[in-house]
Amino acid sequence: MAETSEYDLIVIGGGPAGYAGAIRAGQLGKKVACIEVERAGGTCLNWGCIPTKALLKSAELYQKMKKAEIYGLGAREVTFDIAKVMERSRAVSDQMAKGVEFLFKKYKVEYVVGRGQVDVPGMVSVTDGPNKGKFFKTKNILLATGCKMRRLPGVELDGVRVMTSREALANKTLPKSVIIVGAGAIGVEFAYFYNAFGAKVTLVEMLPQILPQEDEEVSRVLQRSFDKQGIGMHIGTKVENIRAGKSSVKVDLVAGDRKTEVEAEVLLSAIGVVANLEGALSPGVKLELDRNYVKVGDDYQSSAPGIYAAGDIIGPPWLAHVAHYEAINAVNGMFGHSPPKRVRVFPGGTYCQPQVASIGLTEKAAKEKGLPIKLGKFPFTASGKAVASAESEGFVKLITDTNTGEIYGAHIIGSEATELIAEYGLAIELEATAEEIHQTIHAHPTLSEAVMEAAAASRDEAIHI
Ligand SMILES: Cc1cc2nc3c(=O)[nH]c(=O)nc-3n(C[C@H](O)[C@H](O)[C@H](O)COP(=O)(O)OP(=O)(O)OC[C@H]3O[C@@H](n4cnc5c(N)ncnc54)[C@H](O)[C@@H]3O)c2cc1C
Repeated sequence: MAETSEYDLIVIGGGPAGYAGAIRAGQLGKKVACIEVERAGGTCLNWGCIPTKALLKSAELYQKMKKAEIYGLGAREVTFDIAKVMERSRAVSDQMAKGVEFLFKKYKVEYVVGRGQVDVPGMVSVTDGPNKGKFFKTKNILLATGCKMRRLPGVELDGVRVMTSREALANKTLPKSVIIVGAGAIGVEFAYFYNAFGAKVTLVEMLPQILPQEDEEVSRVLQRSFDKQGIGMHIGTKVENIRAGKSSVKVDLVAGDRKTEVEAEVLLSAIGVVANLEGALSPGVKLELDRNYVKVGDDYQSSAPGIYAAGDIIGPPWLAHVAHYEAINAVNGMFGHSPPKRVRVFPGGTYCQPQVASIGLTEKAAKEKGLPIKLGKFPFTASGKAVASAESEGFVKLITDTNTGEIYGAHIIGSEATELIAEYGLAIELEATAEEIHQTIHAHPTLSEAVMEAAAASRDEAIHI
């Protein structure tokens, strides 16, 4: 074993938490290495956010091209090659992962491919992969090992009949029919994707609405839209008795005392994620955990001094931008650059069509908290830009404090919702009020005017409704 000189930081995991934390330490002039067992970029760039968005862009464009006549255009023979669609998605992931590898070089982060393990606080070794046997003495450790897809209990994940998003992203064929279990963001995005390319989709959700975390009204509108698009949905329904055969998979859908059998070519499980600490801690290293997630304090330090954690491995929300923020704050704090901040409010997005994005409290949550709320709602049918673009489905809904105009939450369903939500994020961060958003001049015609008009509506001053 060759020992190198002492490091300031060893990061285990090269996803949005790990790579951002390592680069931040590099920017601060620290001696840092990032150990990644698979590929720089983690789940997000390789098997999550980015490859799915590449697929969804193809799906959205295909749907648009099929409707070319509404723009006065003719595109009679619109075809697709699913293998090329999937290959493009993989190429995009590859390009982004290479980008992280380039940034590692730029910021002098030593990139170590292999499985990292904390032997004792201050000592990390590589237990698997091309750098097996290397070990590192370090002042600090950042655990950023992320999550894995949750498995359906008692069902073999063969990657052919029964898949998670990971196998689905590697697949080069389009199933004729698919049962998707779980209507969170991942399930909903795959439902949109498969349906857009002509697969028969059955989306099943145990809870009473699709996108269970989102505002009820938004979820209802998405459900109506999906219904029009031809996606079969079963909400408040459990999937039981999964039987994978040679050429199809059969399940029972159970809602109350009703039981229906459904058959499809494949089943995609999108029932969430579980913490992944596999091989990351030697048996002698005991960290305090909370439902298998690493418990951290406000400075992202675990119960073992010098061992920090950030990203999916410290628990929900499981989002790349949250992981990124946490790791950067952990590193800023550990080197005394600035006090580490914890995540307060964060946006979330679902990239089906129409898109869904939100930040802060839902209307229901605000009411349950007994907050004095005033709603401001603006439909895209009243937005010149949305109508000109033939994308007028959906609305912007703002939840504000009746007395002060403070923003408690914002919910958008419609075109570019995931881009539009950023303005409300900034407003909340700067503690701007609905009045201040309303008083800000927004370029015309833009979809962002709807963000301003919803703020105006919360003050009963919207002009276009
Ligand atoms: C299909 C899908 C779509 C998604 N879409 C979005 C989206 O649109 N927006 C969004 O915000 N989030 C999305 N997510 C979630 C997002 O991918 C995660 O929140 C994010 O990747 C978490 O970052 P992380 O760095 O904590 O973990 P990961 O990105 O999971 O990175 C952890 C890394 O650690 C490595 N690792 C694990 N153990 C070890 C070890 N012992 N040694 C070395 N390396 C190790 C893993 O190989 C992995 O690369 C999506 C997820 C999926 C699955």
